[in-house]
Parts: sequence; C-alpha cells; structure tokens
Amino acid sequence: DQLTRIQSLQAELEVRVIRDPLTGLLNRRFFDEALHKEVARANRKGMPITILILDIDKFKRVNDTHGHAAGDLVLEKIGGLLRAQTREADLAVRLGGEEFLILMNEINLDQGMKRAEEIRTLIENTHFDHEGVSLHVTVSIGGAEYPSSSTSIKDVMRKADQALYRAKFKGRNQVAR
Ligand code: GH3
Ligand code: MG
Ligand code: MG
Repeated sequence: DQLTRIQSLQAELEVRVIRDPLTGLLNRRFFDEALHKEVARANRKGMPITILILDIDKFKRVNDTHGHAAGDLVLEKIGGLLRAQTREADLAVRLGGEEFLILMNEINLDQGMKRAEEIRTLIENTHFDHEGVSLHVTVSIGGAEYPSSSTSIKDVMRKADQALYRAKFKGRNQVAR
C-alpha cells in the first residue's frame, strides 16, 4: 500500500518537473534538455524539424479588460488546444508568459506552415467562456526549419522568433516564415 502511494507520488512529481501546471504543456527547462536529443534523432534519420513559435496577440488587453483570472483561463484553454493539435512525436512547450513553442519532428517548413495556419484559424474561431463572458484571442506564429533554415538549432529558434515578429509587424493574427 505504501509502495503504491510512493509510486503515485513519484509519478506526480515527474509530471510537475516537466509540465507547466497552468497549461499542462512541457516547460522550458524540460524542452532545453530534450532539444539535443531531438536534433540527434533528426540527424540520424536525415529528417527535418520544424519549430513554430506562437505568441498571443494583445494579451495584456485580456488581463486589463477581464482580469487576471480570465487571462489564466485563456492560457489554460490554449494549452489544451495546442496539446490536442500536436502529435505524439511533437513537443508542445510553454516558453513563458503567453508564448509557446511547437517542435514538429519529420515535418518540413511547408508542411509546418500549413499546420501553423490551421492552429491560427482554430484559435481565431474559438471562444472561451469565463463566468458568462465570452473571451476571444488571436495568435501570431513564426516558423523555421532545421536544418534548411540553419544547421544550428538555436539559430533556427532565433529565425522562428524573427518570423514571429514579422507576423506581429504585418498586423498580427497571421503566420510568417
Ligand atoms: P503583443 O501582441 O505584442 O504580443 O502584445 P501583448 O499584450 O500580448 O504583449 P505584452 O508582452 O505586452 O504582454 C503580455 C502579457 O501577458 C502581460 C502579462 O501580464 C501577461 N501574462 C504573462 N503571463 C501570464 C499568466 O500566467 N497569466 C496571466 N493572466 N497573464 C499573463
Ligand atoms: Mg503577446
Ligand atoms: Mg509575448
């Protein structure tokens, strides 16, 4: 009985160490450690990786208008949505705040940008209910591919981030590469 209890506590602890509690997504620390394994696998298989970086548009406004609890609910729901939209082989990460990363194995940038657009559209068409108030957000998404965008994965992440800022600059609620 005690062993079962210890085992279940251990499992719970593992989840806490790798997942962000609000969104249920992988946390940044876990991602940083997992990244080199993903790159090694891609190299071994000769397959690409696409990195998407997502940022909620004008999220500060949600907090300012509806309160921090409403903002938290949006983050939680977006987390669930991203988990549902990603495959077993993908990593869906909360980088921090209202910024997320999706690593897609064996997906090139053309395919990755299609999935980014699907995610963007889905979020645009989703409303979240918070205490009878309907909340709605959009996201901007930047994408880049390993190894074709750069043979350094850190550089690929920087390129995805630069693409995200282009999406923001062009008016938000869009994807860019
Ligand atoms: P932009 O379109 O340029 O991304 O605008 P923005 O308002 O989304 O960006 P900004 O970086 O100015 O604001 C991000 C906001 O996200 C501010 C911060 O209060 C909010 N935020 C970050 N983490 C959390 C959280 O865990 N819960 C809630 N409710 N808000 C959060
Ligand atoms: Mg934002
Ligand atoms: Mg941000």
